[in-house]
Amino acid sequence: MGTKYIAWCKACGFRSEELYAGFGFQGAGDHYMWPSICPKCHSFGLKDQRHPPQRCRRCKAEVVFYGSEDFSKRYFPDITKVEPVGEDTSSNILDGRHVCPECGKVALVFEARGDWT
Ligand SMILES: [Zn+2]
Ligand SMILES: [Zn+2]
Repeated sequence: MGTKYIAWCKACGFRSEELYAGFGFQGAGDHYMWPSICPKCHSFGLKDQRHPPQRCRRCKAEVVFYGSEDFSKRYFPDITKVEPVGEDTSSNILDGRHVCPECGKVALVFEARGDWT
């Protein structure tokens, strides 16, 4: 169980599918699915935050989790290209703007769509 989110981008109109974040369906409770992005190929999706590192299915790079403190450090390896992201000030993904997997701009917002069980 957990919270259902959707993510959408104010710049390009990207819209994610519904994201069932939280404990996994197996019910074991030992994994926790959370929105992530691949810093290399920008693949977007839920990954198990409890068992890092999680690798991108497409390019095998280590994904970065939205809302994590070190998001920008890990997402922008080139220090000259760092942009301010919501993660800099809050670990709540509902706060601030985030990197869009589609256009790369910091214009993605998350909205909660209620709980799921
Ligand atoms: Zn990738
Ligand atoms: Zn976008």
